[in-house]
Amino acid sequence: MMTPPEISTAQLAAALKAFAGAIGAANVFSTDEDRTDYGDHFAADESRHLPSAALAPKTVQEVQAIVRIANQYKVPLWPISRGKNFGYGGSAPVLKGSVVLDLSRMKAIEVDPDNGTVLVEPGVGFFDLHDYLQRHKLPLWLSVPGNSWGSVAGNALDRGVGYTPYGDHSAQICGLEVVLPTGEIVRTGMGAMQGSPNWQLYRNGFGPGWDQMFCQSNFGIVTKLGLWLMPEPEAVIGADFEFDKPEDLGWVIDTIMPLRREGLIRQSPSLGNWLRSAAVMTTRDQWTQDKGPLGEDVVNAIRKRFNIGWWSVQIRFYGPLEIAEASLDRLKHAFNGKPVLAIKPARWVKGDPPEGSPFSGVPVSFPLANANWYGGRGGHIGYSPVLPPKGDLAMDQFKRTYELYRQYGIDYHASFAMGERSLTNVNQVLFDKDNPEMMKRVDGFFHALVGDARAHGYGEYRTHIDYMDLVASTYDFGDGALRRLNERVKDALDPNGILAPGKSGIWPGRQRETKK
Ligand code: ADP
Repeated sequence: MMTPPEISTAQLAAALKAFAGAIGAANVFSTDEDRTDYGDHFAADESRHLPSAALAPKTVQEVQAIVRIANQYKVPLWPISRGKNFGYGGSAPVLKGSVVLDLSRMKAIEVDPDNGTVLVEPGVGFFDLHDYLQRHKLPLWLSVPGNSWGSVAGNALDRGVGYTPYGDHSAQICGLEVVLPTGEIVRTGMGAMQGSPNWQLYRNGFGPGWDQMFCQSNFGIVTKLGLWLMPEPEAVIGADFEFDKPEDLGWVIDTIMPLRREGLIRQSPSLGNWLRSAAVMTTRDQWTQDKGPLGEDVVNAIRKRFNIGWWSVQIRFYGPLEIAEASLDRLKHAFNGKPVLAIKPARWVKGDPPEGSPFSGVPVSFPLANANWYGGRGGHIGYSPVLPPKGDLAMDQFKRTYELYRQYGIDYHASFAMGERSLTNVNQVLFDKDNPEMMKRVDGFFHALVGDARAHGYGEYRTHIDYMDLVASTYDFGDGALRRLNERVKDALDPNGILAPGKSGIWPGRQRETKK
C-alpha cells in the first residue's frame, strides 16, 4: 500500500480503520482503483500526486472526527469539494499519499431570496444550485466558470472566475463555516455571533477578516460557504467583437480598459485567440496532419469556419434594458473609427427564451472538450500571470509568450481577462499524454513561462499542484517574507501539519525541514 511520507503501512491501515469507525467503511475508499480515481487525470505524471485513500463524510461532525483521527495518526488530509479543478490538479493532493477528504456528499443549499444570497455546503455543484434556483423559481443568477462541473464552494475557494458581474467568485464570499486543523469549528464575519441574521449580508464582522484567509490556503476545511448571487437582470445586451490581427491586442485593451475601470463594464471581458473555439469544437487532426507549428493557412481556415477574428471578446451589459442599451452605445462609440473586423450583437430581454450560456449564469461543461485537441489522452495545465492593464504591456506579454509556445512546439491558447485594475493572461497549455515526446517538453515550457513572468514582475494568480512551490518562490519580496508569514500561521493553526501540506507552497514545519 502506498503511504504518506513518514507513515508506515500499519499506521495508515490503523488510521483507515479508525476513519471507517467514524464515517462507515462504505465511505472509505482505498483500493487501487479508488486511488486512481482520485488522481489528477490531466497531470503530466499522475503518479506524482496519487493519494493513498479517500474519505467521504456527510456531516460537519464527521469532518471533525476525521480531523481528530488524522492528528492522532499524523495522516495528511487533502480537502476537496467536488474535485473538478482541472488544469490545477483536479482532486489530487500536492503531497503524494495524502488522504483525500471528499466533501461532495455534503449538499445542503439555503437561499435567502429576499437578499440574494446562498449558503452552500461544499458538495453543491453549479448544476445543483442552478437546478435548485429553477425548481424554486427564484430570480437569482449564478456566475459559473467555463467548466461548471465543479462546486460553487471549491471554485470560489480557489478564486475561480466567471462571466457575469459576479464573476470574481472569491470576492462574492460572505461568511464561512470552517473546521480548523485541530478540529474546532469557527464561523467567520457576522457568523461569529450566535444566531446573527447578518452572516451572509455583511462581510467584515468585527476585527480581522478571515474569509480570504481560507482561499487558496491550507488553514482550514470549509464546511459552509456564503455567497452573493446576482438578482436576475431585466436584460443582457452586448456584442462579440472580432479583431483581425495579433497586433490589435494592444489598442483593444486600451479601448476597453477605461470603461472597465469606471464601472460601465461590470463583467471581466476576456479577449481570446482563435484556438479557444477550435479546441472545444474540433480536434487538431481535422485541420492538419503536420505535427509542426500551425501555419497561417490553418489559422485562416479555423477562423473562416468559426467566423471569428484572430482575437475575439464578448462584452455584456446587465440591468434595466434602457441602461444596458445605452451602455452598449457608449462601448460602440469607443470603438468608432477603429479597425474592428466584426460586431455580432447579443440580446436577451426578460421574457425571451433562456439565453442558455455562462453569460446568463447557465452551467456548461462542453469546454472540457478542449483537452482532446491533440488526440490521445488529453490534458492541460493552466498558466495565468497577472499584469497591469496596459495595451503595450499586453502586446509584449503576448509576443514573448507566443515565441515560447513556438519554441516548445505547443499551439498558442490564451486570453486576456480584464479586471477592474489588472489583466490576467489565462493560458491553457494543451497536450496529449500519450505523446511522450511532447510530454517531455511540457515541464521545461512551464518553467520558462513562469521565469519569463517573474522577470517582468508578474506572478500567477493560481497554479497547478505540480508548480505550487515554484510559483510561491516567485513571490520573493523580503527574501520570501510572505511565505514565512504563511508558515507561521500554518504552524500555529496546524501543529501536526495534517492539512493539505504543500498547498500554495505552504508546508508545515516538519516537512519544511525535510524539503531543505
Ligand atoms: P471544484 O470541484 O469546484 O472544481 P475542488 O474541489 O477541486 O473544486 O477544489 C479546488 C481546490 O480548492 C482544491 O484543490 C482544494 O485545495 C480547495 N478546496 C476545495 N474545497 C475546499 C474546502 N471545502 N475547504 C478547503 N479547501 C477546499
